[in-house]
Formats: sequence, structure tokens, C-alpha cells
Amino acid sequence: MHRRNVYDAAVIGAGPAGLASALAASDRGLSVALIDAHRQPGAKLSLAGGGMGNFTNKVMDKRHYDGSDISDIASVLRRYGCQNVLALLSRLKLPFEERDLGQIFGLRPARFFAERLALLCDRNGVDFYLGRQASGIMRLQGAVDGPRFKLDAGNESIFARQLVLATGSPACPQSGASGQMLRLAEAWGHATVPFRPVLTPFRMQQDWELDGLSGISLNVRLGLKRGETIFHPDPEGVRSLLFTHRGLSGPAALTLSCWWQKGDLLVIDFLPELRLLELLDDADSRKLLVRTLLSRHLPSRLAERLCPPELAVRKCAEIKKQDRNLLARAVHSFQAAPSGTEGFAKAEAAAGGVRLSSLTKGLESSIVPGLFFCGELLDATGILGGYNIHWALASGNLVGLSLQAQ
Ligand SMILES: Cc1cc2nc3c(=O)[nH]c(=O)nc-3n(C[C@H](O)[C@H](O)[C@H](O)COP(=O)(O)OP(=O)(O)OC[C@H]3O[C@@H](n4cnc5c(N)ncnc54)[C@H](O)[C@@H]3O)c2cc1C
Repeated sequence: MHRRNVYDAAVIGAGPAGLASALAASDRGLSVALIDAHRQPGAKLSLAGGGMGNFTNKVMDKRHYDGSDISDIASVLRRYGCQNVLALLSRLKLPFEERDLGQIFGLRPARFFAERLALLCDRNGVDFYLGRQASGIMRLQGAVDGPRFKLDAGNESIFARQLVLATGSPACPQSGASGQMLRLAEAWGHATVPFRPVLTPFRMQQDWELDGLSGISLNVRLGLKRGETIFHPDPEGVRSLLFTHRGLSGPAALTLSCWWQKGDLLVIDFLPELRLLELLDDADSRKLLVRTLLSRHLPSRLAERLCPPELAVRKCAEIKKQDRNLLARAVHSFQAAPSGTEGFAKAEAAAGGVRLSSLTKGLESSIVPGLFFCGELLDATGILGGYNIHWALASGNLVGLSLQAQ
């Protein structure tokens, strides 16, 4: 049974962005309706970080994000940093730990995070419409202080003075995700960028040079070659790469997929913290066979594939300059051409969305007064490391603070 004729705000989407906006608005006494197609809030969030949730990161700046309007993204992040997420975790009474590269993980299942956010919203008087697909979204003409939006949530109609779209992206469709609200944003005149899958593994041709190494994992530095230019967009530099049956995965590959475009080559440094030429020159190595030296520093199945067989059985001291350079190129700048990615089905996020240039600093539409956007529906994508949940919370909180009480 529902409860009000007109809400201050209707929030569509009970992921971290929608929950954060509903909490910040209801903390300020606004009346809020929160609608989600799922019966449980935070369906995608409960899958995050292997089920424990990597909620934020101690190292937080715009280098960890991609999007068309990067200075607007930075402005949102300046208002809500890692400390704000840690304070929220404390408010939710959820313990956490810091792992490598500044990543903050929960010590309880990630679904608790959504459940406890929802509980706080409930205590603040937010009305939940769960298991209801929002449809028939309309703008209303009428009294200045009357409802400006109407939508259907199942068989109920909801009227609200303000509307928040926090409906996420089409990444991971098995969690019920879809990008349909991007079309509504476009229809209402907003600049958008088409969604594309990111944080997703690469597929390689079946007969590529390193086929058959599935299961091997090692730290690499991964870059991209576009035309003649090689670049390394990942600010962390070195991360783990995993060979799979179909291609390459692991944090290094998932992160690079944020920047990869069709036709780009991957450039892999398999020994990012050592220099092969120095190892070959080392007095202790001179009498070693090349394959012995390589397998001291690399998984031996990979070492075998990187080193031409005729060089593998020679002593390090006997290798000519040309062969040394060839070997160094194979180890430090191995080039591979992905045939594609695993797409939305395996993606943890989507790049693209509603451009921030269409919005005010408070994430309200500059075109449709009273309409707000937050979370992954916006054209702001974080790399691996807790940056996407952080973005959802930061942008959701900002929207919750920007919404007006009547
Ligand atoms: C497997 C996996 C692991 C991940 N791990 C991490 C991690 O550890 N750290 C990290 O930072 N990020 C992680 N992410 C990404 C992160 O989960 C998302 O970026 C984040 O959930 C986006 O939040 P959101 O609130 O914008 O959207 P969502 O969480 O997708 O929520 C949107 C909600 O809107 C609802 N909705 C959509 N349309 C409608 C409609 N018409 N009517 C009603 N409801 C609707 C959906 O049901 C959904 O519940 C992971 C993603 C996946 C898939």
C-alpha cells in the first residue's frame, strides 16, 4: 500500500547510486519513492569484488576515470572522497580492510551494504517499490509546485516533483541490467555516448602465439599500440594478467579494456620490474642456458613460448646482440591482437552514458528541470579498484544533496 500522492523525489534504481541519493535526500527530510525491478536492492552490488565489494580506493583522482567530461567528473569526486565512503561503511557498521593498491574491501558480504543502506532509507521513511519495473515515465505540465513527473511502478502510479534516474548500464545483463534509460535521456534532449562494455576479458584468436597457456598468471605491465603510438593508460602500471582458454583476463587485462578500441594491439611487458639485457649480462648468468635464466623469472611454459628454441639451449654469454634484442622485445614488448572482448556478458561496467556536460554541477539536467542522473548511467567509468562503486556513491550522494524539498 502506498502512501503519498506526490513525492519530493522518485528515484528509479536501488543500486548504490539510487540508494545513496535516497539516503542523502531522506536524511534531509525529503519524501522519496525508491523503485527497482529487483525484489532485493543492490542486485549488481552483491556480485562486486567477488561478493565482498571493493567499495572505494585510498588513491582517488581523475586518472582512475574515463569519460567525455573529465573535469566535471573530477568536480564530483572532489566533493566525496574515500573518507566519505569509509564514514558510510562505519555508519552502516560494516568492517572493512585495505588491500594492495589502496583498495578498500568489505569484511562482510557486499549484499549487506545494500541491505543496510536500504534499512537506513526505510527508517528515514523512504517508500520502496521493489520488484516493479518503472515504465510510462512522463513529464507533466501544471502548477509550479505540483508534480512534474509521473511514472508507473507495476500497477501503481507515482507522482513526483523531481525524478532521479539511477538505472545503471547494460553491463552484466544476468543481474537484470539494461541501458534503456539512455534512450529516454536522449529523447529528452541530453547529450549521450553509446554504452560499450569495459572491465571485460579479451578474446584472442584460437591459434595466437601464446594459445594453450590457460591458468598461468603473472604480473605484467600492459600497454596499447594504436597505429604507431604505444601508450600505457593504466596509472597503476603493474598488475596481474591471467591466461584463459579464450584469451586474457585478470586485473591487467580488465583495466586495459577501458581504453582498448578495435584494431589496437596489446603490448605486454612480462618482466616489468627487471631488464632482460641486464640479466643476460649478469656475471652469475653467463654460464646459464637462456631457457634456465628465463624460467627463473617467468613461468616456464611461458618462457618456452617466448624464446625461439635455437636460443633456448645456448648459454647467455654466447647470445649475439641481434638475438639479445629479439629476446628482449619478446619479453618486454610482446605484441598481441585481441579479436575482441567478452562483451557486456562478462563486463563489470560500461563506458558511455549521459554526458555530464548536459547537467549542472549538482547533476540536474540543464534541459529538463527537476530531472537528475547518477551512477553508471552517467558517462563516467572507473578502472578496477573500487572506483565504480565509489562513483555511484559520490554521484548519488551529490544528487541527494541537490534535490529540493518543497
Ligand atoms: C561482477 C561485477 C563485479 C563488480 N565489482 C565491483 C567492485 O568490486 N568495485 C566497484 O567499484 N565496482 C564493481 N562493479 C561495478 C559496480 O557494481 C557498478 O558500477 C555499480 O553497481 C553501479 O551502480 P548504479 O547504482 O549506478 O547501478 P546498478 O548497481 O546497476 O543499479 C541500477 C538499478 O536500477 C534498476 N533498474 C534499471 N532500470 C529500471 C527500471 N526501468 N525500473 C526499475 N528498476 C530499474 C536495476 O534493477 C538496478 O538494480 C562490479 C560489477 C559487476 C557486474
